[in-house]
Amino acid sequence: MSVTYPNAFSTELREELSSERAHSLSVKKILSDSKSFQCSEDCSTFKLTLTNFGKKDYIYSPYFRPGGLNQSHSPNCSLMKKNYENRIGTQETSYIFSRIDSNIIVDLNLLKGLLTPSENPTKMTPTSTNVTIGYTSHNGEKELGSKHTYQHIKSLAKLVRLYFDSKEGELYRFFDRNRNEIILSDYFEELYLEKEVVEHKNKIYYGMVNIFKKNPENDPYFHIRFCSPCKIYDNIVTPTVNINIRLATHRGVKKKIQQLDRLCETKEEFTLFYFGSFKYNDPYLNFDKSHQEIIDYLFFRD
Ligand SMILES: [Zn+2]
Repeated sequence: MSVTYPNAFSTELREELSSERAHSLSVKKILSDSKSFQCSEDCSTFKLTLTNFGKKDYIYSPYFRPGGLNQSHSPNCSLMKKNYENRIGTQETSYIFSRIDSNIIVDLNLLKGLLTPSENPTKMTPTSTNVTIGYTSHNGEKELGSKHTYQHIKSLAKLVRLYFDSKEGELYRFFDRNRNEIILSDYFEELYLEKEVVEHKNKIYYGMVNIFKKNPENDPYFHIRFCSPCKIYDNIVTPTVNINIRLATHRGVKKKIQQLDRLCETKEEFTLFYFGSFKYNDPYLNFDKSHQEIIDYLFFRD
């Protein structure tokens, strides 16, 4: 996910500018619109905005940021091609995926909905360099301890970043552990208004949520509600989950509790990710996890 861009193509001057140069031209009023930038000359689908446009005084140096949500780079985008080339010869090994160049092998057990490691460590042998990357060895598909779950969720959050980067136009290819190319979006399900939810189907669900802290004095818990009601067996139901703070004491959880506390204070909606499935207890649509483990399977985009 590229949040800031050092350079952009000015559609007013028809040339590439650094953020410093563009800012200086904005102060001199040679440029007139903070939004008249795009990623590169051949990428008109990805608009950029210059911060501090026309301002002489500022705290943070001017930079380019995406001009809107859900934009994607054009197939000819030179930046995406450059990023692709820069990844050649690089690799990244994580618990549930390994990347070499721009090829990513994903090892998620959707059937069990558990973050289980491979029986045989995932290896990938690229034809060009003959380098092999493997997983840290694990004990087959036994249930994971909280340490492993913590590491796997961290890895899952990284995979989510790669997924959204690819949706934005990064030139990645995804494979399953048998080297068959996969469409990673099949693993994801966005929960929007009246989205049909299939009970007990494991996926990476995500959507905008609100969070509330309840019962602060006595056994406090977080109550999280998706903003949009979903559909299950022809019923319209809003998925909700409660997180008991007293039960959340294991590794990796403290930081999440602090994040959730901050999100409660800001009262802003945010995107929640959940790896698992749902169960329908009329009239509720609940996360199909025990009270103790639920927090492990929730994460936020970094
Ligand atoms: Zn682009």
